[in-house]
Amino acid sequence: MRREYNSEALTIGVVGAGTMGRGIAQIAAQAGLRVCLYDARAEATQAALGAIEKVLVRLVDKGRMEQAAVAAILARIAPLGSLQGMADCDVVVEAIVEDLEAKRGLFQELEAICGEGTILASNTSSLSITAMAAACEYPHRVAGWHFFNPVPLMRVAEVIEGALTDRAVSDALLAITERMGHAGVRARDMPGFIINHANRGMTSEGLRVQSEGIADFATIDSIMRDAANFRMGPFQLLDLLGLDVAETVIESIYNQFYQEPRFRPTPLIRQRVAAGLYGRKSGHGFYDYRSGEPESPSAEPVAPAAVDRPIWISPAEPVGAAALAEALTAENVRLEQGEAPSNEAIIVVTPLGQDTSTACLEQGLDPARTVAVDTLFPLNGRRTLMGSPATGADYLQAAHGLLAAGGVPVSVVRDSPGFVAQRVVVLIVTIACDIAQQRIAVPADIDTAVKRGLGYPQGPLEMGDALGAARILRVLENLERAYAEPRYRPSIWLSRRARLGLSLLQED
Ligand code: NAD
Repeated sequence: MRREYNSEALTIGVVGAGTMGRGIAQIAAQAGLRVCLYDARAEATQAALGAIEKVLVRLVDKGRMEQAAVAAILARIAPLGSLQGMADCDVVVEAIVEDLEAKRGLFQELEAICGEGTILASNTSSLSITAMAAACEYPHRVAGWHFFNPVPLMRVAEVIEGALTDRAVSDALLAITERMGHAGVRARDMPGFIINHANRGMTSEGLRVQSEGIADFATIDSIMRDAANFRMGPFQLLDLLGLDVAETVIESIYNQFYQEPRFRPTPLIRQRVAAGLYGRKSGHGFYDYRSGEPESPSAEPVAPAAVDRPIWISPAEPVGAAALAEALTAENVRLEQGEAPSNEAIIVVTPLGQDTSTACLEQGLDPARTVAVDTLFPLNGRRTLMGSPATGADYLQAAHGLLAAGGVPVSVVRDSPGFVAQRVVVLIVTIACDIAQQRIAVPADIDTAVKRGLGYPQGPLEMGDALGAARILRVLENLERAYAEPRYRPSIWLSRRARLGLSLLQED
């Protein structure tokens, strides 16, 4: 018998009253749903109730909740002494230990207790919903319901359809998610679902750039924050997640996709885990938190004084060249207008996905005097400058001084196809395009999930549109040429839309 999942009086069962279970119980009760809460350890259930009360009282203190609401919310959460009490639940969501056999065993127990109409949902981050459902008599009622930590603040949940999940089941969970004040996004049962899958670009390419000696981690983070407008760079994010947890996710998604080269990690992360450098939770990860504040090993370097030397900007990339010329003109930097640089000029190229070496050789420019500036991103937050191994130190220094003269910080990195931010961002965009191409989720849901779950300033597809799909494609094609690695192959979803001049959000 199918239940009415849109009825006012829904009861949600939550099994596992740890970090996630208590968060789910809290937002469900706040939304007016009845909650049954069970944990194998009775003291964990009591601790969860105490923790929820504390959170609610804090909301009252901040004036965000009426005092009377606290008792009403708590009254809606019934602590259970055994699983038997779950019999009448409309949905039971498990947030127990991340172990497939434990979850399969729990679902079998629940099937013996609950009617066929009860939805069985799992908050797993990494296990297959299909494999969990396969242990059940009625696999069509099993789905993933993936919340994020801390549940009340991370206002998104992925609803995951296993191979046999009924559409009505995922529809019901999406509606309940919205009722609980979170955005519900639908995903197919694939490794990493949407959000952990979409975050591969940031972490794997950030690590790759560092491992190639292009820039240190703090510089990479600064560029991702100040130039590309992310709230955090990849190393801050890793420190926040915990490197031990992140390593498991990184390796599991890489291996579940049969060693997909885009997701290949570097040995650096395992080494840091071996050293106990877990991040914020252990006081030391990439950054050192022991003094209470993140300590950056490379504080902002002092820019050299600006010398009066002309800059000649190559017109090979007209959009980037024009943006740089406009910024430098406003800062009173002397620009040469001739078709070729004079003998005293610093030569600046603005490549997309090319390193300085390739750009200057292709354009027939003097390598000793050529530097490159990243113009894919606005030039008013932070500027990324790089030379080639042939660039004279005096030219690089002079370029640094002139680029910094207007007060915008400059990061100097080693020669790299795509600098730092171009590489990380195009990986983020192309992976999101792959997610769309593989029909793991629809484009709008991919963007919603990433914005809410990862705090990116824009969804990755929207970001690709804003920067220009054709330019993203150029960066990828040049990266692929430079490294001869399938890691950088453009997603077919991206190349098709870039060539047709369509939005990356355009479905087919
Ligand atoms: P946790 O360790 O904080 O809590 C798990 C709770 O489950 C414990 O209180 C434990 O006593 C109880 N438990 C274990 N086995 C049980 C069983 N068989 N029956 C009843 N209770 C049982 O764990 P958590 O961080 O809340 O994670 C729970 C689930 O949510 C995991 O599957 C995890 O992968 C997933 N998840 C965690 C996060 C996160 O950031 N913590 C985010 C998303 C998803």
